[in-house]
Amino acid sequence: MEYSELVEIYSALGSTSKRLEKTRIIAFFIRKLSREEIPAGILLLQGKVFPEWSESKLGVASKLVARAISKATGKSLAEIESDWKTTGDLGSTAQNMVRKKRQSTLFSESLSVKKVFATMIKIAGLEGSGSQEQKMQLIAELLTSATPEEARYIVRTLLLDLRIGIGEGAMRDALVWAFFGDSLGLTLQGEEIEIKDREGYNKHADAVQQAYDTSNDFAIVAELCKTKGYSGLLSQDLQPGKPVKVMLSLKVNDAKEGLLRVGQPLEAEYKLDGFRLQLHKKGKEFRLFTRRLEDVTRQFPDVINYLHAVDADSFILDAEAVGYDAKTMKYLPFQSISQRIRRKHQIDEVASRFPVEVNIFDILYLNGESMLHEPFKDRRTILEKIVRQKQRQIVLVRKIVTDSEAKIKEFFAEALDAGTEGLMLKNLDSPYKPGARVGYMVKLKQTMENLDLSIIGAEWGEGKRASWLSSFTLACRDEESNLYEIGKVSTGLKEKDEEGLSFNQMTQLLRPLILSEKGREVTLKPEVVIEVAYEEIQKSPTYSSGFALRFPRVVRLRTEEKGKEDISSLEYIEEMYYSQGEK
Ligand code: ATP
Repeated sequence: MEYSELVEIYSALGSTSKRLEKTRIIAFFIRKLSREEIPAGILLLQGKVFPEWSESKLGVASKLVARAISKATGKSLAEIESDWKTTGDLGSTAQNMVRKKRQSTLFSESLSVKKVFATMIKIAGLEGSGSQEQKMQLIAELLTSATPEEARYIVRTLLLDLRIGIGEGAMRDALVWAFFGDSLGLTLQGEEIEIKDREGYNKHADAVQQAYDTSNDFAIVAELCKTKGYSGLLSQDLQPGKPVKVMLSLKVNDAKEGLLRVGQPLEAEYKLDGFRLQLHKKGKEFRLFTRRLEDVTRQFPDVINYLHAVDADSFILDAEAVGYDAKTMKYLPFQSISQRIRRKHQIDEVASRFPVEVNIFDILYLNGESMLHEPFKDRRTILEKIVRQKQRQIVLVRKIVTDSEAKIKEFFAEALDAGTEGLMLKNLDSPYKPGARVGYMVKLKQTMENLDLSIIGAEWGEGKRASWLSSFTLACRDEESNLYEIGKVSTGLKEKDEEGLSFNQMTQLLRPLILSEKGREVTLKPEVVIEVAYEEIQKSPTYSSGFALRFPRVVRLRTEEKGKEDISSLEYIEEMYYSQGEK
């Protein structure tokens, strides 16, 4: 397939915000892909060349891309940078520069989807001395063969900033439509899809979703659809070494509601304030993933060491790693160990300064077999058999099984005393549902829930704060991960670095994400997620979400655990808005 065909799809997707229309466009595109073209086509469509969880990363610095544009078009860096200042998008600048050059040249080779994909993979793989120059050269070669429109999307893909929102839901529905649409009798009637076989449709959509939740790669799912059909989707199984989405929880307000929601008896567990770790073993190899499916194996040699106390050849375990004070042995809040996740150097030294205890609470896979469909109580029994526990190293999360409201309350108080956030309440007979926020487990916490929000803009400060970004525009999301403003926050950050998360640190984090500037205001790529506390949610016409926060305050950074698809949803905020009215 020619790259220009994909570019037409990008631009069609960019010009509509209707989910159904997007789904139709994507389905149409997927149908045209041959089997060999599926990985390249599906990944590039989503603006990437590797699935999110892969150790390989694309990611090229914008300065390098600017140089490649200069090399390919003969335009000076100064001209490129000045155009970039006005467009706020290096992709559009590439388009402008290639267009100008095109007027004076005639011939060029056309690009195929495969060629663009292969070159980008090559770029990602270059390392060591001279690699920057080689990368620049390869990008320049792509741009030399590109039309102006193509240049725009090549650059955006390289910068991981495609600017076309394709939600997971739309991808899933498009796959069902593309591969099973005819047999299920799907047709488009005006603005609605008409589905003859509704039951069949739901079955197929569930199978696609399940295959995605276990593989986290739509390219794999599309290949299964194309080569093995429905039964192939069902046979897609977990593989130790490849991350699975974690199961998520709902929230309850008290023990009584917990018993009603989850069923009784239930298992109540400590809800530790650490970070989620998915622990994998296959033969002699270990791998660790965060909740965002990032590979953090290298950062936790201590945890890998503890994993030798699990008696099994292969496994996937779900756990919370929690920090503790090496002197008092007391649990510490998440912030105290968050730096371990990103740490690339002197790993052993930080590991001994910020030790963690691994608290295992679930098992997804054991010795070649999926455990997803085993009842929770049996999964816990298996864990008790295979884990040789050692305090402050590797343990099973502390639990009780009960049907008594009083016992839950007592255990809740004990959990808070131990320095945890409260309890998780779990249904004893449920399967493990990757990626799902189902009522099989609910959380019981003490306070009004804070929100996790993306920072999408900011303002340079004044006076002594002139070198800091100091007022941050916050956004929540809808189901499709489109972002909506919900207000601005400027309190909660510190003036001095030693005092905690500071304006200076926040400015360092945000500066590389600046997309455009106008006066003191900057627009930002939404990569930083923060937890925000507030007094109250109010209705407000000022912001696109329709809501605003009273007295918002920054609590902490959450980028390690949450991407923009994980931030608080409009639906949730609406629910919180109405529930506060009841109080
Ligand atoms: P959410 O997961 O709902 O998006 P969140 O990340 O703010 O929100 P919480 O909802 O407060 O987290 O709680 C869920 C998280 O609690 C899990 O993702 C996990 O990291 C952690 N956790 C701690 N203890 C347990 C436990 N015993 N069982 C399951 N999860 C636990």
